[in-house]
Amino acid sequence: MQRTPLIAANWKMNGSAALVEEITLALVSVPTEGADVLVCPPATLLRQFPTSVNFALGAQNLNQEKSGAYTGELSAALLLEAGASYVIVGHSERRTLNAETDIVVAAKLTAAVEAGLIPILCVGETQAQRQQEKTQQVIARQLDAVYASQPELLAKSVIAYEPIWAIGTGESASPEQAQQTHAFIRQHLAQYDAQAAVKVKLLYGGSVNADNCAALFLQADIDGALVGGASLKPAEFAQICLAVT
Ligand code: PEP
Repeated sequence: MQRTPLIAANWKMNGSAALVEEITLALVSVPTEGADVLVCPPATLLRQFPTSVNFALGAQNLNQEKSGAYTGELSAALLLEAGASYVIVGHSERRTLNAETDIVVAAKLTAAVEAGLIPILCVGETQAQRQQEKTQQVIARQLDAVYASQPELLAKSVIAYEPIWAIGTGESASPEQAQQTHAFIRQHLAQYDAQAAVKVKLLYGGSVNADNCAALFLQADIDGALVGGASLKPAEFAQICLAVT
């Protein structure tokens, strides 16, 4: 891989102080050179991680406003103060369950970068969109919404391709399917900033596990993974991290 790989855990609304301890222990044996490792727990658990961990911490969402009367929300500054250096933006669950539009996603990504967080922008199509051969059209729209007017944000972003039909279903995209879409994403991004498009990390997400990760990581444009379910099993997540190094 010409880019340093990144393996990111998305715990979603799962986890506990006990899991924090378990994953911290499991990741001790994962070498820090060769790949970056990131854990995105629920924000309330960020402070539970010892400051000495050999991996980065991230949040799963942020509010685009800096501060104010937004009950229950968390700003980029609050997340940074809690220990996050990354934040997931535009996960399909938030787009669907929290009605986050492309405009909101773009505002969140801008707020993250302005505050110094590294955003992981999630893009991906539904099963129906794939069947209608609209995968590239949907992803182009999601990327354009963020980078067409602010191409300078690309150099500060990570992008995760997460086909919605593969998330939490046990049915990962095949390495060839994933590579095809990753290649399209990189090519599409080149129109905003050709240099940044070569350097940007493109993660694959969707039912990644210890058995299927190695074949995905062999693909030229796959620079790591965003892992949901398997990241709740510390030993398996550590195996996925080791497979990329
Ligand atoms: C995710 O939701 O980001 C994800 C990739 O989940 P899973 O690995 O469980 O499919």
